[in-house]
Amino acid sequence: MRKIAQGVYLFEELRGCNVYLLVSEAGLTLVDTGLAGDARRIVVQIEKAGLDPSELQSIVVTHAHADHIGGLAGLVQRFDSDVMAHQLEAPFIEGTNKLPTRTKLQRTMTWLGDCFPGGNKGTKVTRQLEDGERLDVLDGLRVIHTPGHTPGSLCLLQEEGGILFCGDLLFNGHPLTGRGGLRYAPQAFSVDPDEVPRSAQKLAQVTVKALCMGHGEPIVHERGVQMAELLKAMSD
Ligand SMILES: [Zn+2]
Ligand SMILES: [Zn+2]
Repeated sequence: MRKIAQGVYLFEELRGCNVYLLVSEAGLTLVDTGLAGDARRIVVQIEKAGLDPSELQSIVVTHAHADHIGGLAGLVQRFDSDVMAHQLEAPFIEGTNKLPTRTKLQRTMTWLGDCFPGGNKGTKVTRQLEDGERLDVLDGLRVIHTPGHTPGSLCLLQEEGGILFCGDLLFNGHPLTGRGGLRYAPQAFSVDPDEVPRSAQKLAQVTVKALCMGHGEPIVHERGVQMAELLKAMSD
């Protein structure tokens, strides 16, 4: 695990998405869980840091893609953590409904997700979130609903520290071509790619010091930078 900001750590050598550990008075909280096999790596790294994984109070899921919820079932089974996600995303996490698919690639991804061990096992969302809600984690995390990549994709903002978790709204680097730079998720991965930039505009006025995305290296600006500036300078 690597420290990204005060109370925020990034797990290393996972196979799925970036997973962040938030350490605060509320105990331990995860943002996303990677692939199924990552659950074990997450536990080992928490222990290695001298923390107690049984204090894993809650897991916030940014959205229901398999590379973000693969480890969820295993972790909840072991630690009985609360699972939080946007209310529109809950059915896809609980397995009572399937994410809408627009492209062939998405249908393949859904199919692959079902094939992963634990991939088709739904996990109960114990707290369904709404836009604007405040979580008692890391001195207050605000939920921002940013649909487009999936209907219930969300971002989390810790205003004071300028820490923004943006899930797959923004990538740092292109996952297929390897080209660097901040960008939107490849269109083929998103349910409604036209809505993605509109959602990103909801963040334009936010000053970030640590932008923690689901894929690629987090962007850290010690003095803070306006999201509007980052969005303007984005790669195609
Ligand atoms: Zn992802
Ligand atoms: Zn995704």
